[in-house]
Amino acid sequence: MTTCALPTPALPRLARLGDAMRRHRGWIVGAQWVVLLAYLFLVITPAVLPLPPSSAHLWDNLTLFAQFIFWGIWWPFVLVSMMLLGRVWCGVLCPEGFVSEQVSRIGLGRPVPRWLKWGGWPFVAFLGTTIYGQLVSVYQYPKAVLLVLGGSTVAAIAVGLVYGRNKRVWCRHLCPVNGVFGLLSRLAPIHFRTDRSAWDAHGGQRLIPINCAPLVDIRRMESAAECHMCGRCSGHRDAVSLVARMPGAEVAALDDRDADRWEVRLLVFGVIGTAIGAFQWSSSPWFVQAKLTLATWLIEHDAFALLGSDAPWWLLTHYPEANDVFTWLDGLLILAYIGAAALLIGGWITLWLRIAGRLLKQAGAHLRLAYALVPLGGAGVFLGLSALTVTLLAAEGYTLTSLPLIRGVLLAMATLASLVLGFIHVRRTPDGGPLRQCAAWLAFASAAAGAVMPWVTMFYLW
Ligand code: SF4
Repeated sequence: MTTCALPTPALPRLARLGDAMRRHRGWIVGAQWVVLLAYLFLVITPAVLPLPPSSAHLWDNLTLFAQFIFWGIWWPFVLVSMMLLGRVWCGVLCPEGFVSEQVSRIGLGRPVPRWLKWGGWPFVAFLGTTIYGQLVSVYQYPKAVLLVLGGSTVAAIAVGLVYGRNKRVWCRHLCPVNGVFGLLSRLAPIHFRTDRSAWDAHGGQRLIPINCAPLVDIRRMESAAECHMCGRCSGHRDAVSLVARMPGAEVAALDDRDADRWEVRLLVFGVIGTAIGAFQWSSSPWFVQAKLTLATWLIEHDAFALLGSDAPWWLLTHYPEANDVFTWLDGLLILAYIGAAALLIGGWITLWLRIAGRLLKQAGAHLRLAYALVPLGGAGVFLGLSALTVTLLAAEGYTLTSLPLIRGVLLAMATLASLVLGFIHVRRTPDGGPLRQCAAWLAFASAAAGAVMPWVTMFYLW
């Protein structure tokens, strides 16, 4: 895979920035300590405070403030940063990666076992946390935040204490958002690039080895997906530097050997399908209708077990003091709604991608084409998360009158980016002539429609 770098003079300035990150590592570590302490304070403290009264505001109540920081700003804009800056968040600010690496300095230092390297973990972890987060209302309640985010941090520490030395084994293999970040960072217009010929030409001179915490093979690094952009290897062997590239260039240049089945599953069934279901169920009239119908049927048949609301808060949302209690039926319906959305949307996209691949007469073309949907996947999760930002601001009296327009423009831009990337991939597969290429691109466009229409339905039709 080759990616097109932008011409100078952008290169030297960026390369100098990369080198400055290496030279001023102490500043980065200092920033990581500050973020870690702020993160721990905002995760732990609200969980031991009473729920905020209805008169509270985010500027005078720590719980509301923490809620706004985590879900209104942190998550949506970390996702955007992946598409604009690569995984700078992971390498420079992420408290979980930082703490996992720090404890691995004093841990057992065991080698990474095979089960931990299984390629399906990012898919399983993303689905698990996304769905569980909905069941316990992680966006609303601080105890759920402590359980989900805090639980993830405890797991990151435990993995750091057992596996690797000075490494981020957690981030590389198990972090629930590692796969999503890897996908989105492929679009970024900057990355650390290794010049293989410069590396090899450097010869056998003795050098201080680089500690790449997320275990990237720096010499063979071609993708931004796994690099945490920490800058530690900048300038190494006069071969590694921070450079600019066309946005989306890595996805456009992706070939069959770069396409990974688990990554494609994560994108199609997770980042697109599951995320849509998770963001959509609470505003879906279909969900309300199904719940009413089933509850009526259960009452008519004297079957009240599923209408009970005795589940603990760590299994299903249970806050009687806030008049917010899920019944077992609610829990089952949330699971069913998210599952159906993931299967229907993911199934639709897979079907059309396979048709496009068949038309192109190339095994594996459908996997490569799937990556062209990354802009739509990224825009979707940003729109879903930013809907919470909008809700939190609306509760404080700030309404964005041009919101439908902004959402429409973002969706249109992401759709256009996906269609252009799809077109580039179709053009790169000339077998069968222009008619087949045209039909394959239309099939790809049908797949893309599966990622766009649920958002249009949610934002403009309901
Ligand atoms: S390859 Fe490793 S050491 Fe180099 S910038 Fe990326 S994460 Fe840091």
